[in-house]
Amino acid sequence: MNLNETVFVFDVGGSAVKAGVVSPDTGDFVKHVENLDIATASAYEFAKALPDAIELLAKDIDNFKPAGIGISLAGLCKDGIVVEAPNLKWFNAPLVVMVKDAMKNVGHNLPISLENDGDCFALGEWKYGVAKEYRDILGITLGTGIGGGFIIDGKIFRGGMGFSIEPGHIKVNYEIDTPPCGCGGRYCLEAGTGAAGIVHTYKVKGGSVDENTTVLDIAARAEEGEEIAQALFRRIGRRLGIGLAGLSNLLNPEAVVIGGGVSSARKFIEPSLRSMLESETLVSIRGKSVLLWSELLNKANLLGAAAMVAKL
Ligand SMILES: [Zn+2]
Repeated sequence: MNLNETVFVFDVGGSAVKAGVVSPDTGDFVKHVENLDIATASAYEFAKALPDAIELLAKDIDNFKPAGIGISLAGLCKDGIVVEAPNLKWFNAPLVVMVKDAMKNVGHNLPISLENDGDCFALGEWKYGVAKEYRDILGITLGTGIGGGFIIDGKIFRGGMGFSIEPGHIKVNYEIDTPPCGCGGRYCLEAGTGAAGIVHTYKVKGGSVDENTTVLDIAARAEEGEEIAQALFRRIGRRLGIGLAGLSNLLNPEAVVIGGGVSSARKFIEPSLRSMLESETLVSIRGKSVLLWSELLNKANLLGAAAMVAKL
């Protein structure tokens, strides 16, 4: 691929689709759309709608040379197939073939990549973001669930089945008030520290919630000085710190990068997270792994998708 060319990138989340036109060479965005209006009722509907969305994205770009399509997706993906995306309700969908066919119908034969969004986040931060000076890095996204990726020697670590890493489902909680996890298991890190788990725990601890209460609302109450909210975030920080210490002992990343919507409550989470990480990481690696916070924010997944398609 000629890296002077640009690629179309899509970040398909459980509640919104972000899009961009990116130069994989520099990581510069020619265009960035926070909330793309596109069908996601099924993988097929999405693939069918993609050519029109791409035409619209490219409409006012001069001398546009599309060189590929990169897709970051909230779900388990392997060999171009969305194996399991519970938030989207897409299962065993051959998305890359679907998109390739849809693009061929409008006269384009482009390389297409499909990756898990946590892996895209980690790759984006490693290649273009705060972790670019490190070699082996762990990326963690705090959102509806807890996602992530481990980059080793510049490559996504996939494990034997192809789905590594899923940091949200490491088992850390053995507590009665932990809600069940979306994966069907119990005791998962994200069951207590994903967005839904945070709101649930806030309610259990006596916080006032209705069906619209979000983590950002709870963060705002913490900011106003509410003790229940502040204590909750200290607890979330400790749990995340335990999870990250376990992952650091296992993988020895040179840097850990944290992003995702819940990381906007960083001020309240970070002190207890750091202290747990400090006390529970093995002495021989303690203090050597750097804890960083994403600056690419909502663009990290899109940039990881751009890096992936540029490799094809
Ligand atoms: Zn789980």
